[in-house]
Amino acid sequence: HDDLTGLPNRAFLKERLANILDQARRHNRKVTVAYIDLDNFKDINDGRGHAAGDEVLKEIATRMANSVRASDMVVRLGGDEFLVVLVHQSSHDAGITRRLRELQKAINRPILGEDGEITVTSSIGVAAFPFDGATSEELLANADRAMYRAKELGRNTLQHHDAGSTPVGMPLGEQEELHQAITGDQLFLQYQPQVDVATGRITGLEALVRWNHPAKGRVPPVNFIPLAEETGLIVPLGLWVLNEACRQARSWQDMGLTPLTIAVNVSAKQFADPDFSKHVAEALERHGLQSRWLELEVTESVVMQDAERALAMMESLRALGVRLSIDDFGSGYSSLAALKTFPFDRLKMDRSLVEALPGDKTAVAIVSAVISLAQTLKLSVLAEGVETDDQMDFLRQARCEEAQGYRFSRPVSPEEIVVLLKV
Ligand code: C2E
Ligand code: CA
Ligand code: CA
Ligand code: CA
Repeated sequence: HDDLTGLPNRAFLKERLANILDQARRHNRKVTVAYIDLDNFKDINDGRGHAAGDEVLKEIATRMANSVRASDMVVRLGGDEFLVVLVHQSSHDAGITRRLRELQKAINRPILGEDGEITVTSSIGVAAFPFDGATSEELLANADRAMYRAKELGRNTLQHHDAGSTPVGMPLGEQEELHQAITGDQLFLQYQPQVDVATGRITGLEALVRWNHPAKGRVPPVNFIPLAEETGLIVPLGLWVLNEACRQARSWQDMGLTPLTIAVNVSAKQFADPDFSKHVAEALERHGLQSRWLELEVTESVVMQDAERALAMMESLRALGVRLSIDDFGSGYSSLAALKTFPFDRLKMDRSLVEALPGDKTAVAIVSAVISLAQTLKLSVLAEGVETDDQMDFLRQARCEEAQGYRFSRPVSPEEIVVLLKV
């Protein structure tokens, strides 16, 4: 509060937030965390716009502070990112959204600076305790993720953590429908090739789930994975994905195709299930797939939630012989700790970092640093979301080993994979 443009000590911030949550638990209150990123300022998230000028940041910070109540908290996280923490009665959700909208409008008022008038817009991601997270880490990670979704939706938007899957007033039937999708056969997998940057050869495939809804048609995973996570349905869903990917991998090998690594996404609830490594062993056994062909992708928020348990799980998975990769690296806020602490084999650089290549200097610096970090830690490194030749040229020269993205192929059916592998 005192120095609005100063940066908080992370440990201090987490402790403060943990205290606030403790209090809220005791007094049966709700805490809303809003992760705010200014749209038209240059930072590692979007690499566009102005460099964040101190004058403007101070003005924006002051407006935020004036827009919240005395019991609320505003902190600058770094760059052009801020965190707002609001404590309230659980019945006041609609009011909270309205207050955040007002804050967003306050940010929007034109600012008169040295170079004339500028208007700043913001992307706001919201997560509320206890529904969207029980700890400060979970809340921050979920608010951060919602902020990214807000960015994807365009400028000056506000997204609730689970807004993509569970809009307010969502028909209760949706959960039942998802349950049917898993037990019936409405789910299927597509596979996206991963290629060796130096040779262009396909080295692996990422399995991505799709839902063929009887009435709505193809539903993208962003619209049902969050719901599946919230309801716990992600456990049976993830188990289905795991088995189907192993079955398909074995079937391709039986056709005489060169064996490839199959990467499967694993969510937090699955990873927290003590039986998970047993499920993995059973899936490999059932389909006769050697463990070296299976790779599991987890995001850093998955392992950061309960580090000790995550580490034990990772070790038992490694003992099976499966590979582990850290997914969406560079999209979160605590990446280095996760890399040092956990035994990953591979690092997947997030699309948001790759997107700004090669024009944006900051992105170039970060990607280069991540690649050399991976080399130091003896991790292989893959760039996600590669769409252009220019990005490819940069990655080749920066010695990134593998790449995945529309530049090579969108996720496609198993039949199309066979065609790609045969040419
Ligand atoms: P992800 O793990 O980061 O997967 C990559 C996403 O990026 C895929 O979206 C893919 O289609 C998209 N993509 C790939 N190349 C490009 C590109 O060059 N440009 C752009 N703009 N996008 C690209 P998709 O299939 O919609 O999946 C979205 C997310 O849903 C995945 O993100 C993953 O987090 C989740 N997901 C998908 N399948 C599963 C699953 O079986 N289990 C779990 N837990 N999550 C899954
Ligand atoms: Ca920004
Ligand atoms: Ca992935
Ligand atoms: Ca990813």
